[in-house]
Amino acid sequence: MPPDRAAGREARRRPAAHSAVAYSRRMTVSLGLPTIPRRLATGETAAAGAGLPTRPGSDSAPGLLDRFGRTATDLRVSLTDRCNLRCTYCMPADGLPWLPKDQALSADEIVRLVSVGVRDLGVRQVRFTGGEPLLRADLVDIVRRVAALEPRPDISLTTNAIGLAQRAGALADAGLDRINVSLDSLHAETFETLTRRPFLDKVLAGVDAAAAAGLTPIKINAVLLPGVNDHEAADLLAWSLDRGHELRFIEQMPLDADRTWHRASFVTADDIRGRLAERFVLSPHAAPRDGAPAELFDAVGLGTEAHLVGTVGIIASVSEPFCGDCRRTRLTAEGGVRSCLFGDAETGLRDPLRAGASDAELAELWRGAMWAKPASHGIDRDDFVQPVRTMSAIGG
Ligand code: SAM
Ligand code: SF4
Ligand code: SF4
Repeated sequence: MPPDRAAGREARRRPAAHSAVAYSRRMTVSLGLPTIPRRLATGETAAAGAGLPTRPGSDSAPGLLDRFGRTATDLRVSLTDRCNLRCTYCMPADGLPWLPKDQALSADEIVRLVSVGVRDLGVRQVRFTGGEPLLRADLVDIVRRVAALEPRPDISLTTNAIGLAQRAGALADAGLDRINVSLDSLHAETFETLTRRPFLDKVLAGVDAAAAAGLTPIKINAVLLPGVNDHEAADLLAWSLDRGHELRFIEQMPLDADRTWHRASFVTADDIRGRLAERFVLSPHAAPRDGAPAELFDAVGLGTEAHLVGTVGIIASVSEPFCGDCRRTRLTAEGGVRSCLFGDAETGLRDPLRAGASDAELAELWRGAMWAKPASHGIDRDDFVQPVRTMSAIGG
C-alpha cells in the first residue's frame, strides 16, 4: 500500500465518536456463515446442506420459504438487462450481449408473475430494477398495474435517473412509492470515469424532478471504488443531507463483468465510516434494523457543517454480511427466479407461463426455486467463485 494511503487508513482508524460501537461490532462479526434462523433448521448445519428439512406443502407454509427458515417477501424485478451507462463495477465498456426482445418478459407477463407473488406467495415489496428500468417505454404502465394489485405492494424503483426528469411525475401518478437513484460522484469528470458516460447533469436533473414529483425521501445509492471516488464519501453525505435525501453506501461486490473486484482493496464499511468521521459524528440509529440491508447511523456535521443532520446507511454486504436475515427473491428480465444474487441457479418461469401454466403451477415452481436458496454468498470462503451473471444481468 502506498505510504499516503497507509497513513490515511491509519488516520481513519483513530478513535472517533462513532467508532466504539462500530469497531466492537466488527470484532464480533464473523465473515463466515450468517446466523441462520432456526425455525426449520434446528440441529442442521447450513454448510453441510445435507439432511435439511423437506419442503412443507403450500397449505402449511404458503410463502417463499427456504431450507434455513427465511421467508422472502421482497421481490426485485429486473425489467431489462440493457443500460445506457457502463459503470465499471457492473458492466464492461462494450456492454453485454443483450437479451433478444422476444425473450424478455412483456408487461403482461411481468404483471402476471408479480400478481402471483403478491397474491399467492406473500410478496409485500416490489422493486423494479435492471439494467436500467427507465429504458422500458412501458414502465409507467407496469407500475400502474402493479399498484392495482391486491394486496397492494409497496412499489419502488432503482434507477440511474437518466430520463427521470421527463417521467418522474407520471411514475408518481402511477403509484410509485419510492425511488433509489444511483449516484457515485458529484464531479463530472469522476462521474464519467465511473460510468463511462458524460451524463452527470441528467442524473442531477432526474433527482430534482423526483423530489418535485413528491417521490421523497429519495434514496441515493453510492458505490465507492478505491482511489476513484472514495475521497468523496463525506461530500456525498453533505450533498444528500443538504437536500433531504437519504444516502446509502453499498460495498462493492464481486458482480462486475470485468472482474476488477479485489478482496484486499475494495472499500469496506469500516473505511466508509472512517472517511465520514472526518467531517461527521456518526452514532447508531435508534430504530431497529428489522432485516434491512442498510445499517443506519445518525449523522451530524462537524464545525461549519453542524447544520447538516440526518441519517446515512451502509450496506456492508461483503464485510458484515446479513444473509441470515435475507428476505429477497428476484425475477430476471427473462423470467428466471433467482433466489440469491450469488447463486447461479435459476428457475425459468417464462417458458411454463408461455406454455399455459396456471398461477398455482407458477407459484409452485417459484416456491421450489426459493427452497434451494443458499445460506449465504460465501465470498469469505477460499473456494468462492464469482457468479457467471453480472449485476446488471441479474437485477440489483
Ligand atoms: N441501473 C440502475 C441503477 O444503477 O440504479 C438499476 C440497476 S443497478 C444493477 C442497481 C444497483 O446495483 C445500483 O445502485 C448499483 O450501484 C448497484 N451495483 C451494481 N454493481 C454493483 C457491484 N458490483 N457491487 C455493488 N453494487 C453494485
Ligand atoms: Fe447500468 Fe446500473 Fe449497472 Fe450502472 S449500475 S451499468 S447504471 S445497470
Ligand atoms: Fe440474500 Fe444472497 Fe444477498 Fe445474502 S448474498 S443477502 S442470501 S441475496
